[in-house]
Parts: sequence; structure tokens; C-alpha cells
Amino acid sequence: MDFTPSLSQLPSPAEKRIALHVTAPAEGALRQRHPWIFENSIAEQSHAGAAGDLAVIFDDKRKFLAVGLYDPTSPIRVRVLQSRTPAVINIDWFQNKLAAAAQLRKPLAAQNTNGYRLVHGENDGLPGLVIDRYADTLVLKLYTPAWLPHLKEFCGALAGVNPAQHVILRLSRSLQKQINDGLTLRDGMPLTLLPTPELNLFQENGLTFESDPIHGQKTGFFLDQRENRARVEALSKGKSVLNVFSYSGGFSVYAARGGAREVVSVDISPHAIESSKRNMAHNLDLPTVAAAKHETFAEDAFDVLARMASQKRLFDVVIIDPPMFAQNEKQIGAALSAYRKLTRLGLSVLRRGGTLVQASCSSRVSSSEFFESIHQSAREAGRILTEIERSGHALDHPITYPEGEYLKCLFARG
Ligand code: SAH
Repeated sequence: MDFTPSLSQLPSPAEKRIALHVTAPAEGALRQRHPWIFENSIAEQSHAGAAGDLAVIFDDKRKFLAVGLYDPTSPIRVRVLQSRTPAVINIDWFQNKLAAAAQLRKPLAAQNTNGYRLVHGENDGLPGLVIDRYADTLVLKLYTPAWLPHLKEFCGALAGVNPAQHVILRLSRSLQKQINDGLTLRDGMPLTLLPTPELNLFQENGLTFESDPIHGQKTGFFLDQRENRARVEALSKGKSVLNVFSYSGGFSVYAARGGAREVVSVDISPHAIESSKRNMAHNLDLPTVAAAKHETFAEDAFDVLARMASQKRLFDVVIIDPPMFAQNEKQIGAALSAYRKLTRLGLSVLRRGGTLVQASCSSRVSSSEFFESIHQSAREAGRILTEIERSGHALDHPITYPEGEYLKCLFARG
């Protein structure tokens, strides 16, 4: 693949490495392969550095502990690339990481899936960087300016290991704010020269979906719910299914293929609702999808649930997959109370004996707190939930450190 000239305008990586000593607890965490060194755990630093400088961490006997990307703009001051054995961070190193990540996702091809997370940041050894594949389009999302001086080399490695027709660059919100000093990079910009389509069609478990990698949330689709959607499909036959916080209708299309009688999608964003209608339409060649009735509400979910409850409108399956509620430690209490409220509202429109599917993507909220809050809310509503399954991360969203775990989902009969 050929890349735009803007990549060659990026600064080159600095020759000089930063040497660091860190506090004892941080050293312990590094030995446990934790991928972050926080600003306040740096005990000694050889010289001030720029974003993307390589930082080498030594123990008090001057033995190598780890090497990582330095970022003076973030409290996560170093994101570890490699620990225990020294490494030269170059195109070969990037290629090895990309090849290992691709190998891990190999089984997905046999599942008629060409939309998946190819690189899951820290968990695939490439911290602060995510790559999602949508058929022939790769979406590369950066969460730290530390990648910018390495981007050209990294894209060279990508072209070798994961050739694709299009590569689109996405920048995290904080990175978008930082990029202004003459760099031509911007969020949603194609890095490859071929004209990029606005919408990409791809396959997930044999279903066709569109993603909008340039303007869409995340990188255009919620790839992390693939397995939970398949679980919903398996319990949808002949059922009425309510999909709350539906975004582009992932769960809705699976429920329809599974034989749901009717599917109702609710999302506050009219764009998301339009996309859910198109996603349903992309699969109309399947008789069960063509037979399912799809109704949509572009409204606030809390309002819709309260209204349906007052109308005594009931469903056999209720799916609740809200956005992240807790961005930081302080918001955990409020997030848990929002989850409890959603459980109560969800149960008020769930037929007795029906299935509740409730998910959380807040990494700050632990699985045990989340599941307990659902049960507590159900008890308060006079319903006892029987768990069917607790699910977590799929193979393309691996977890290698505690903070990396964010997704949890409960399937329960109630
Ligand atoms: N379940 C989806 C992903 C949900 S992401 C999937 O499988 O793809 C969260 C969604 O919640 C977003 O689409 C967002 O637009 C929507 N949202 C946020 N606040 C909302 C609210 N108050 N009412 C309804 N939808 C809301």
C-alpha cells in the first residue's frame, strides 16, 4: 500500500534515549509486566524528553528493566513496549508484534468474520494504539502523541504484515487537541492514497454490516460485542426483542437472523438509528431477517423504557448496552446507580421468564460490582434473576493487565 506524503513530514524518532529509575512499587509492577509507568513513580530521569522518545528503565543495579514510549503530556508517562530483555524498536520489532496479533485472530476467518480488532493496544504489546479491520480497510487509532515519530516506520511494518487497501487514521480526543503545530495529520484522515469509501461493508459471523470509520464512534462499529450478539441470536427464535442503546443495530440484526418476530432498536442518535435500518437492509436476503419486523426509536432510552412500561408493552428479550458511565474513580457510584436504574427499567418491560442481557463497558466498574448491582436492583423490583451466563472479552480483545478489562455482560432469566 502507498502512503500519503504527510507521513514523511512527521518528526523522526530521537536518537538519544531517556534513562529512568522508578519507585520500588513501580519496579514491582514492571516485573509483573504492567504496561504503564505513571508520572509520579519516576524517581530519576536523565534529561527532559519529547513525546515519542524511547525511555529505558533501569533497576538500582543498572540492569535493564523495560523500554517504552515517553509521553510528557500524559500522567501515563511511559507506555512499555518491552520488558525483561532489551530490544531495538524498529520496523522488525513492529512487524513481529503485528504478526503475533494477526496470528491470534486467525480463527475468526473461519467464522466468516472480516471485521475485528487487529491490535488491542497494551494487550497486544503496542500500547496506546488500536487497529480495527473492516474488510479491506484498517482504522489505526492513536491515544498518545508518542506514536507520531514512529508512525511512518509503523505503517511500513503494517503494509508488510497486514496489507489493506485503505488505512484511516483516528486520533483520541486528547490527541486531537494536541495536534496543531504544523502537522497535517487530522482525525479521520486517510493515510493511503486510494480514494476512501465513506462507508465500509464487512462481515461479522456471516452477517453484513457497514461501518463509518471516519465519523463513527470508536472506529465505526462496536466490534467488542460480536460474541454477545451471537448469544442473543441463539435465544431469539419466535421472540420479541428490545435492543436499548442499539447504535448501528448489531444486536438487532443478529436477533432478526435468529428468528425474532419483532425487534425494536432504541438509540438517542438519529444517525445511529439510520445506520441500524441500513444494517438490517444489508441482510434482507436472509429469510428470517426479511420476516422480522424492525421498529426504531431515536430517543432517550430512559424515556422510551418508562413510556413502554406505562403502556405495559413487554418483550421476551431485553438488551441493555449503554455507553461508558464511569470515566474516573469518582464516577463509579453514579455509574452503578445508573446501571441499577437501567436494570429496573429493563425488567419493567421484560415478560416474566424472559431474558435480560445487560452489559457494561466501564473499566472502572468491576465485574463483581456490576453483576451485584443488577441482582440488587432486580430484588428491589421483586424479581429474582437466574443467571444463564456471564461473558467477557472475545479473542480479538485480549486482556493482559487489570485495567485492560472493561467489558462484562450478564445473561439472566427473570
Ligand atoms: N449496543 C451497541 C453499542 C452501544 S454504544 C452495539 O452493539 O453496537 C452506546 C450507544 O448509546 C451509542 O450509540 C449512543 O448514541 C447511545 N446513547 C447514549 N446515551 C443515550 C441515551 N440517553 N439514550 C439512548 N441512547 C443513548
